[in-house]
Amino acid sequence: TKVLLTGGSGFIAAHILDVLLNHGHSVVTTVRSEEKASKIREAYPDTPKSKLDFVIVEDIAKEGAFDEAVKVEGLEAVLHTASPFHFNVTDTQKDLIDPAVIGTTGILKAIKKNAPSVKRVVITSSFASILTASKGPSWPEHTYSELDWNPVTMEEAVQNPANGYRASKTFAERAAWEFVKNEKPNFAISTMCPPLVFGPIVHYLNSLDALNTSNQRVRNFITGQVKKEIPDTGTFIWVDVRDLALAHVKAIEVPEAADKRFFITAGYFSNKEVVEIIRKNFPEYEEKLPGKDVKGGGYPEGDQAGLYKYDNSRVKNVLGIEFTPLEKSIVDLVKSLKAVGA
Ligand code: NDP
Repeated sequence: TKVLLTGGSGFIAAHILDVLLNHGHSVVTTVRSEEKASKIREAYPDTPKSKLDFVIVEDIAKEGAFDEAVKVEGLEAVLHTASPFHFNVTDTQKDLIDPAVIGTTGILKAIKKNAPSVKRVVITSSFASILTASKGPSWPEHTYSELDWNPVTMEEAVQNPANGYRASKTFAERAAWEFVKNEKPNFAISTMCPPLVFGPIVHYLNSLDALNTSNQRVRNFITGQVKKEIPDTGTFIWVDVRDLALAHVKAIEVPEAADKRFFITAGYFSNKEVVEIIRKNFPEYEEKLPGKDVKGGGYPEGDQAGLYKYDNSRVKNVLGIEFTPLEKSIVDLVKSLKAVGA
C-alpha cells in the first residue's frame, strides 16, 4: 500500500515508519525541513526512493498546508501524527490548538479534494481527548473506554498549557469525526488514543536536550534532575511506542478498524515504579536516581485499586495488539538514551 505519513520526524512517527517499511508498504513522509528529511534518509540507506520519499510541509497550521503533499500517485492510506506535544506555550490558540485542529481538518480536506484514491485515514489522537481531567486519577468507579470524551471547553483550554494540550487533541479529534459525518468523504477514518507513550527513541533524530515530551521524565531521573523528590505521575496509564506504531499500521490493514476510535493502553504505571525499574537494571545510574526513601511518585490512594479503570479490549480484539511490559519499555528507553550520551 502507498501511504502518506505526516510528521515523520516525531518520536512515534519514527516507529510507525519502521513498521510500515517492515510490512512492505511504500511511504511518503512529511517533515518540516530538508535537514530532517536527510537524517531519516541516511537511517535507511538501502531503501529505494520508490519505498521511502519525502515532502516538506513546514507548518501544518497554515490553511491548505497539505494540498500539494497529498498529490501522491496511487496514494491509498494516510497516517496523520503531526501535532504539537509540548508545554512551552505563549499563545494556546496559535501554539497548540491551531496546528492540531487546522492540521487535522486541513489534511482531511486536502485528501477529499486532491487524493480521491485514498480509502483509509488514521489520526493520532490521545487519551487527552478521552479523560475528564477534573475527576483526577482517584475515580475507581469509572472505566475509561472509547465511549468517553473530554468535556474541556475553550475557556478551560487557555487556563494552563496542560489544559491547552488536552483541548488541542480533543478539538482536533472531534473535528475529524465531524468532518466525516458532514462531508461523507470517500475514505474511512480511525483514531488512536494513547496515554503516556514510553519506549526507545531513534538515535538519528534525537538528543538528550531535544527529547519528545513523554520520555523527558525518564531522562530527568537518569540525569539526576529530581533526586530529592519524585514528581507526581499525572497520568497513570501508558503504552509502549512500538505497540502504538503497530496499531497505527494495523488500522490501515484491518478492514474492521474503519470508523473506529481506539483507546490503546498497556495498563498502570507510577513514576516510583519507573525509578525502581531503572535502579534494578542500571546500577550505573544509582548516584543520579532519587534515593530509595525519597517521597513522591506513588499512587494517590496507595495502590492501583484507587485509580480509574480502563477498558483496552477493542485494540486487542480488532487489531490484535499484545502489550509490551513496562520493564522492557523503560529498559529499552534508557538504553536508547545512553546511546545519545545519558
Ligand atoms: P513529537 O514531538 O516527537 O512529534 C510531533 C511531530 O509533529 C513532530 O514531527 C513535529 O515536527 C510535528 N509538528 C508539530 N507541530 C507542527 C507544525 N506546526 N507543523 C508541522 N509539523 C509539526 O511527539 P510524539 O511523537 O510524542 O507525538 C506524535 C503524536 O502523538 C502527536 O499527535 C501527539 O499529540 C500524540 N500523542 C503523543 C503521546 C506521547 O505520550 N508521546 C500521547 C498521546 C498522543 P518537528 O519535530 O519538526 O517540530
